Amino acid sequence: MAAARLGYRCHILTREQDSPAAQVSHGVTISDYTDPVSLRAFADAVDVISFEFENVSAEGLDLLASLKPVRPSPAILRVSQDRIVEKSFINGRGVRTAPWRPVGSFAELEAAASALGLPAVLKTTLEGYDGKGQAILRGVDDLAPAFERLTPKPLILEGFINYAMEISVIVGRGEDGSFSAFDTVENRHRNHILDVTLAPARVPVSVSDAAQGIAREIAVGLDLIGLLAVEMFVDADGRVLVNEIAPRPHNSGHWTIDACPMSQFELHIRAIAGLPLPPATRHADAVMKNLVGPEEAALWPRVLATPGFIPHLYGKREARPGRKMGHVTRLFPKGSLPGEFGVTDALGFLGERG
Ligand code: AMP
Repeated sequence: MAAARLGYRCHILTREQDSPAAQVSHGVTISDYTDPVSLRAFADAVDVISFEFENVSAEGLDLLASLKPVRPSPAILRVSQDRIVEKSFINGRGVRTAPWRPVGSFAELEAAASALGLPAVLKTTLEGYDGKGQAILRGVDDLAPAFERLTPKPLILEGFINYAMEISVIVGRGEDGSFSAFDTVENRHRNHILDVTLAPARVPVSVSDAAQGIAREIAVGLDLIGLLAVEMFVDADGRVLVNEIAPRPHNSGHWTIDACPMSQFELHIRAIAGLPLPPATRHADAVMKNLVGPEEAALWPRVLATPGFIPHLYGKREARPGRKMGHVTRLFPKGSLPGEFGVTDALGFLGERG
């Protein structure tokens, strides 16, 4: 929709028969992500290619990149797809993450757990998101069942970060190296799934600046063209550590649709289309609440009936547990994001779900 507003026609390649993006786009190709015949026909129909989901085929993107510009590049997708490659890259840029060890066997898990200490988080290195493919290990008895459940996938053990806050920064970068970044925001999760984003994050300027610097460092290191979200932890000492990166529009940036002259989606399109990147300014403070699963999707009539709620529903056919079905944004005059009680109050019946 952001691309359409800039005068572009979008062509969506998706595996789904009735995908939300295809519902509002000019063209659609239903295909898996690797079929060379449909990928070639798709590339033929477009001028520039991007992706909005990391679990696409990097090999499929390589084929597309041999035919048309793919932004961000398949190499960046590969970094973000594998937690070990991702963390090695981030640490290689001098940026801190949770301490981590690769885990290829149960013996390696035992060694990693004693090196990092417990609690720790065991994750699959590939195809994990929204807490899928991970387990918290609180005591030694948790090691074997978690290993059984997640293996034979390659795994990584991360030290548990007792974070004070989770934050993120979304940065756009153009072909000419120009930059534009949204303000640092605060993210709250429920069942490992993003629940609420507060814009801006209520952190000291030093923390916010550190987060912005890290996002920029990673974007430059990746030679990014497009959009990148960097998810971070702020620990008890105010240090900023990276959790993971996503080279695409991100759920923690959905508030920008309503609170900014240029949304994250527009910034993404501008960056991949070679348009100028204006500063990613905000005209309002915002609270964004996700509507997750059948339970929260069922609140839609109440959402629509609540003054001040800006409703977004994605048009997904089926509300499965844990599936993000839509979100609600509430705006505040810039500089007046309320305190804890005010945020809950502003979310009304959605805030009670806490
Ligand atoms: P992820 O899929 O890696 O983004 O993890 C989902 C959520 O789990 C994060 O947003 C955190 O709330 C939590 N989490 C992940 N890794 C850690 C960690 N090393 N320490 C503490 N919490 C974590």
